[in-house]
Amino acid sequence: MYVDACHTPSSSHILRVSFTNRFVVVAHFAPNQTRRKMRKTTFLTRKLREVSFLSRGLLSTRHVVLAHLIPMRRCNLACGYCNEYDHSSSPVPVEVIKRRVDKLAELGTSIITISGGEPMMHPELDEIVHHIRLRGMIAGLISNGYYFTPERIRRLNKAGLEYLQISIDNVDPDEVSRKSLRVLDKKLGYLSEYADFHVNINSVIGGGIKNPEDALTVARRAVELGFSSTVGVIHDNDGTLKPLSPKEKDIFQQVKKVGNKDHARLNWFQDSIAEGKPYNWRCRAGARYLYICEEGLVHWCSQQRGYPGIPLEEYTMVDFDREYNTEKWCAPTCTLQCVHQVGILDNWRDPQKTPAQIAAEQEKKETVGEMIRVE
Ligand code: SF4
Ligand code: SF4
Repeated sequence: MYVDACHTPSSSHILRVSFTNRFVVVAHFAPNQTRRKMRKTTFLTRKLREVSFLSRGLLSTRHVVLAHLIPMRRCNLACGYCNEYDHSSSPVPVEVIKRRVDKLAELGTSIITISGGEPMMHPELDEIVHHIRLRGMIAGLISNGYYFTPERIRRLNKAGLEYLQISIDNVDPDEVSRKSLRVLDKKLGYLSEYADFHVNINSVIGGGIKNPEDALTVARRAVELGFSSTVGVIHDNDGTLKPLSPKEKDIFQQVKKVGNKDHARLNWFQDSIAEGKPYNWRCRAGARYLYICEEGLVHWCSQQRGYPGIPLEEYTMVDFDREYNTEKWCAPTCTLQCVHQVGILDNWRDPQKTPAQIAAEQEKKETVGEMIRVE
């Protein structure tokens, strides 16, 4: 009798037990089955961590929920609508990024999403991901998808990446965007086969995207490959809030049905944006959500760089409280999904004040303080 493992033409692993030269199949371990089991365990662990971070976010307002961290401004593409890339900058040294991760851990951050530019161009991306996990935070990545190979995916699995988002703008590349299904489909196939992390494919409607029906094709392909799918409604090219056309609205509703139901539930604001109407909410950027640029400065978000513009290493809970309580003038027309989602945790509590009201209150306090000191 002997026992061995072999590959069938379909690459299945079959454990063979032989008695007098007759093979009896006693167990059948397809790699896909093993991978599915492993993915299920990873999925459950990830969900438990999410629930625990969510409860913590609801119970306490005194920590950062989500930070976007930029280790690399450089990008291999040049999308027509994008103001977040260059073609010449160097990667931020990994030790500097690790210190920023440590500081974010001190601020109680639950999730760090690495973004760019194109973060896959950073030579030590795996080390950054690993460091985020070492510090007990959820590690996510936003990428244009161009650099995924089986080997790179395995390395990211090993580093502990938990979430990946790829935005796909169209089916065929054009002068505005090369983040196209036709170009990326092979990479999506690799991800479907090898990634242990969750993959979300985001498609886009509005903003002058030529063929709105492409969003539906992208969403269907994403679901077919076992990914989740979300859709973003964006402003027109001039930044104004215009309603989607009837055709775009129809496709938007169809894409929402194909995609992630939780996401659709969390993005009521998109229905207002689709109708061209402002949305009333409390943006907690600078507090519950932070955007850390390649220079290590804290900004409200990618679209409001410069406010407050304080170095992360000097950021304190005084800054956090000020920004938490500051009403953002850009909130009614904001389309940044992740900041909206973080905002849901606190929309029902702690009304905000305008910067002018906060400054007036501060001045009043200082005047009273001076009077007391004089007396
Ligand atoms: S891939 Fe992303 S970062 Fe690069 S140009 Fe396009 S939108 Fe900007
Ligand atoms: S409302 Fe939107 S654009 Fe304005 S700071 Fe918040 S996230 Fe940024």
